Amino acid sequence: MKLFELNNKKQIPAVGFGVFMIPNNGPTYDAVLAALKAGYRHIDTAAGYMNESDVGKAIKDSGIDRSDIFITSKLWLQDYGYENAKKGIENSLKQLGVDYIDLYLLHQPYGDYLGAWKALEEAVKEGKIKSIGISNITLNLWDKFKDGMSIMPVVNQVEFNPFVQQKELRKVMNKNNIRLEAWYPLGHGNKDLLENKAILSLADKYNKNAGQIILRWIYQEGVISLPKSTNPERMKGNIDIFDFELTDEEMQSIQILDTGKPTHDPEDLSNEKRLMSVKIHD
Ligand code: NAP
Repeated sequence: MKLFELNNKKQIPAVGFGVFMIPNNGPTYDAVLAALKAGYRHIDTAAGYMNESDVGKAIKDSGIDRSDIFITSKLWLQDYGYENAKKGIENSLKQLGVDYIDLYLLHQPYGDYLGAWKALEEAVKEGKIKSIGISNITLNLWDKFKDGMSIMPVVNQVEFNPFVQQKELRKVMNKNNIRLEAWYPLGHGNKDLLENKAILSLADKYNKNAGQIILRWIYQEGVISLPKSTNPERMKGNIDIFDFELTDEEMQSIQILDTGKPTHDPEDLSNEKRLMSVKIHD
């Protein structure tokens, strides 16, 4: 697995396995165990996915050294604010059954964001979390929060794929040395994306599937991707992307597919209201 370097000099596997919407108590356990067997060494979960405990069990039972696996989790909104965030971090550590988390993100940009960020910064100093990052942060939200942060986030995890390239956001993140992580790297299974002509013609040329071409393109863009699949063949295929290279011209043929329109707008007040009402514990 290829690695990228973060702004704190730590390394992160370029492709991680996402477990959003995979149920706990079995399915996530099976998927993570299969992913680790297939060669993934980076798992992306969240307190809000309510499957951290299956992720932790699968990692333990895999027999792979903890230090060889990169675990990302995320704090849910209900646990924002300084005091609540400290408890939320402890809960993630407990659910995962680990004594440190490699990367911990603030999942959504609402509520007492900077209070929660302060608790994340302290957890870094205490060695409970190795790196901290942000997610769903737009340019406006970055301007709102950046001055309240004393540790620079290592990543911003946002919607990113050939149809949603976040060009303006990336310029600013690059300037701050914050790496982008792609959620919905395959457009959440969007057929228009996976059956796009330009992508299919590259798939034909390199004897790969459309998903592999997209993930290779994301890798060459310097962005971390987090594809999800519960299909064993696709799971394996999604990390079998390091034996070919897209030319500059081929990279451009995908760059021009950008619509500039994410499907999720974090600044939309109805999203804020909906997400703030999601409770993951009493
Ligand atoms: P995705 O990875 O873009 O798409 C997954 C879908 O694509 C599944 O339906 C999967 O079906 C299919 N698929 C996988 N590989 C394929 C391939 N090679 N060819 C064709 N289809 C393929 O979207 P996602 O799972 O929704 O998002 C990925 C991860 O991003 C999540 O698991 C989560 O970790 C993270 N995420 C974060 C946020 C955030 O707010 N920070 C939001 C959303 C997601 P099969 O299972 O049948 O293969």
